[in-house]
Amino acid sequence: MEFYPVAIEKLIEEFAKLPGIGYKTAQRLTMHVLNLPKEEVEGFADALKKARGTIKYCSVCGNYTDTDPCAICSNPNRDKSIVCVVEEPKDIISMEKVREFNGVYHVLHGVISPMLGKGPDSIKLRELVSRMNGTVKEVIVATNPNVDGEATAMYISKILKPLGVKVTRIAHGIPVGGDLEYADEVTLAKALEGRREI
Ligand code: ZN
Repeated sequence: MEFYPVAIEKLIEEFAKLPGIGYKTAQRLTMHVLNLPKEEVEGFADALKKARGTIKYCSVCGNYTDTDPCAICSNPNRDKSIVCVVEEPKDIISMEKVREFNGVYHVLHGVISPMLGKGPDSIKLRELVSRMNGTVKEVIVATNPNVDGEATAMYISKILKPLGVKVTRIAHGIPVGGDLEYADEVTLAKALEGRREI
């Protein structure tokens, strides 16, 4: 049985570590890379290194950023009294596409998931609580409408309400079990508009 040279095997292995990439796809991507002009491969490698090397989390909201605080947190025109809580940085992109939200964000970097044994300490909840310094009037919980997303929303309501903060949940314009990432802009705008207190 023939094996690939070590360098090729190594590259296949690295691709296969990426989410959603199986061995066969990793093999195909590797062959694709091997057929690219050298400069293109170098550009790709540089982009990987640069992204990982310069992008960090915003110390205020947890979004990806190359400046700290991020562009949203440091924008004087954004309403700091409304904080929209999302699961992942990519959800901020979905919300920003709606163009109707002018508040700021807080990224949890996950959700509470009793099934997966992920408790409140495994996500950025303490950081959210520490932002409740009197400026914040409303927290809109925009976690995904599934079991974990709902449980997380309830938990946030429970810990923030005693602090005198209004906690709202985006409406179920998004189908239950759906994902914020795949909701179209109109649906998301309606969900935001129809938010209710929890
Ligand atoms: Zn930020």
